[in-house]
This record gives sequence, structure tokens and C-alpha cells, in this order.
Amino acid sequence: MTQQSPWMDPDLAAFRDLARTFCEKELTPNTERWIADKQVDRGLWTKAGEVGLLCLSIPEEYGGGGGTFAHEVVLLEEQNRAGDSGWGVSLHNGIVAHYVLAYGTEEQKHAWLPKLASGEWVGAIAMTEPGAGSDLQGVKTKAVRDGDEYVVTGAKTFITNGGQCDFVIVVTKTDPTKGAEGTSLVIVEADRPGFRRGRVLDKIGLKAQDTAELFFDDVRVPVGNLLGGVEGQGFVHLMQQLPQERLIIGISSVMAMELALEQTLRYTKERQAFGRPVFAFQNTKFTLAEVATEARIARVFLDDCIAKHLRGELDIPTVAMLKWWTSDRAMKAVDECLQLHGGYGYMNEYPIARIYADQRVQRIYGGTNEIMKEIISRSL
Ligand SMILES: Cc1cc2nc3c(=O)[nH]c(=O)nc-3n(C[C@H](O)[C@H](O)[C@H](O)COP(=O)(O)OP(=O)(O)OC[C@H]3O[C@@H](n4cnc5c(N)ncnc54)[C@H](O)[C@@H]3O)c2cc1C
Repeated sequence: MTQQSPWMDPDLAAFRDLARTFCEKELTPNTERWIADKQVDRGLWTKAGEVGLLCLSIPEEYGGGGGTFAHEVVLLEEQNRAGDSGWGVSLHNGIVAHYVLAYGTEEQKHAWLPKLASGEWVGAIAMTEPGAGSDLQGVKTKAVRDGDEYVVTGAKTFITNGGQCDFVIVVTKTDPTKGAEGTSLVIVEADRPGFRRGRVLDKIGLKAQDTAELFFDDVRVPVGNLLGGVEGQGFVHLMQQLPQERLIIGISSVMAMELALEQTLRYTKERQAFGRPVFAFQNTKFTLAEVATEARIARVFLDDCIAKHLRGELDIPTVAMLKWWTSDRAMKAVDECLQLHGGYGYMNEYPIARIYADQRVQRIYGGTNEIMKEIISRSL
């Protein structure tokens, strides 16, 4: 009954075996501890670098795996299947490294990508500020040119990998008198004086992810840390890269639906009430028939978006449709599945409870679903 993704091939199937083995061995046994620690082990990144799981879709000349975005999809699917949502690898691999690949100068790519690929550096991207989330033109963090340096001043919040990051792409204003045209992406390495981490935030889900506040107190970086070397390009770069981030959210959302269905089928076929399995009640069967249908529709839409993205043809409104629809429908499906678990569904020791708590944020980050509808409506 499961859908075979048309973009899969024998090479990716072999890679899936490697990714699955790694995730089952390195992630599953540690997830409970990481939830308590509010972060994964720092050593996980270097282990993943050693086996070639970092920067999978970055060319080999920069230390990457030389694969395609399909490799990133497979890793993310296997991470989800292994029950881990703490390791911020999809952001590191699929977002941070791709900004450097797409816009970095040759010198920047050779200097930075090998360190992201080995796990020596953990990457983060800091757009959101306490006063600016959806409205990124309202960013206040400044990068002021002073001789051969930029002085970066400001505060960011909700930053994924914030607790462990070594390399941060910071959305700054190099010209605060301008909106989008005054925006530039500046790299701040975590060992620069004036870089400070705030709290690792206490969230309702994604508990093992080190989402944190970051502060920049007059951090001096060389002008060579301006991504691409030209000021004022930051907003364009964000608009071009956000679709891949939204596609990643679509993947996690579809996985949430599929895993919730799998868990609930297993549970309701075992659990007895009134002398029969819970699955035998018509309400259970019809609810799960509906969830299975929506999961299938979501998978077909996702596969189409992945195939288009691999051909370089995925447009911004279509991925916005995928992001809002899959994250919204997944939340409803997971809620129905939790209901069929009764009280056990509310207990953190049952996977459905964690899927429920983790899924909620998919409607919020990467651009809220309301913003997605704004984007779509502009194309109508
Ligand atoms: C777990 C987690 C991880 C995150 N990781 C990162 C990260 O790594 N890097 C990063 O930079 N950010 C990250 N974020 C931040 C995330 O992208 C923002 O929270 C999100 O973009 C929304 O911004 P906001 O929280 O400021 O909400 P606001 O922009 O204040 O929005 C509040 C409400 O108003 C609505 N709204 C706003 N504008 C409009 C409009 N024009 N029309 C209709 N409704 C509107 C929103 O949809 C929302 O419902 C993360 C957030 C979370 C929770």
C-alpha cells in the first residue's frame, strides 16, 4: 500500500540502508537522554561527518558527499523513522551549507564547506529577532563597516542549533536606512569575542533540539565574512533559499502523517475494548481510512515537489502550498491518531505523543502558514 517515490533509484536505496543503520544505531538509543539534555551529543556531528552524512548534497571538491537533494530527503526520512527530532542536520545540510554553496565566493566555499562537512563546525542561520519574525525587513541587527571589518550588533532568537553552533549566517542590515536592499548575510564564527549564547529555550516539542537565543555585542568579523562579498544581496538570497527550507518542512510533515498512521494501526489492532480490538470499531477504521488517504495525497504532492526541485523547477507558490497544506493536515491527522490511543496517547512514552508535540511547530517556522497563503495569493 505504500507509495514508491518516483525519484528513488538503486543508488539512493543503498544510501537509505546506510542512513537507516546510522540512525538506528546512533539516534534511537540516545533520544531520551538528548531530550533531558535539550541537545544532542556534540560528538554526533563528528561521527556523522566521518561516515559521510554531512553536506550530502555539496560537491566533493568542497568536502561534501557529491549527492543531490534526494540524499538529504532520504536522511531526513530515516531520522524521522528512527524517532529522533533533535538533531538539526536537515538545517545544517539542507539550508546552511546551501547558502554558502549558492552565494559564497570560491575562497569562502573552500574555507567553510569542508568544516561543515566534517562536523568540525555546526551550522545555524539567524534571521528571527525578538521584534522581527514574519517581517524580516524589520531586522535590527546591524553590520557596520569599519576599515577591513564589520562590527555586528544585535540579538536573535529561536535559532535552531543555537546551543552548539560554530558557524552562524546572520541576517543583518548593512544599510539600516533601507529595507530589503539594506540586508546582507554576514558569517559570525562562535569563537569571535562578543558572540554570546543566551538560553536554550524550553519548548513544547522538539525537546532535544537546542533552539537558542544568540547575542552579538559588537562582534568584529573580517569583511571577507560577508557572504558573496557584495552588500545588499541578503534578502534576495533568503527568498531564493527559503523554498528548500519549506520543502524540508513538507518532508517532515508527510513523515509525521505516515508514522502516526503506522503507530496507530499497530496500537489499535492490539488494544482491546468491549471484547474486541479498537481497530474493529467502525469509527477507528473510517478515521484511519481518512488519514491513510490524506497521507497518500500528501506523499504524491511531496514527491512531485521533490522531483521538480531536483530538476530546478520548483516555484515559490507551489512549495508554499506544500508547506502549509502538509503541515496543517499532518497536525489534524496526528491529533486523530492520538485520540485513537486514548489516555496512552497523552503519555510521552508513546511515540504518538512526541509526534504530536513535534508537529505543532511545522505550521509556524520556515514562514508561518499565514505567510504561505499570502505568497500563494499573490500568484493567483
Ligand atoms: C522551534 C523553532 C525553531 C526555529 N528556528 C529558527 C532558525 O533556525 N532561524 C531563524 O531565524 N528562525 C527560527 N525560528 C523562528 C520562526 O521562523 C519564526 O517564529 C516565524 O517565522 C514566525 O515569526 P514570529 O515568531 O516572530 O511570529 P510573528 O511574525 O510575530 O507572527 C505572529 C502571528 O501573526 C501572523 N502574521 C504575521 N504577519 C502576518 C501577515 N502579514 N498576514 C497574516 N498574518 C500574519 C503570523 O502568521 C502569526 O500567526 C524558529 C522558531 C521555532 C519555534
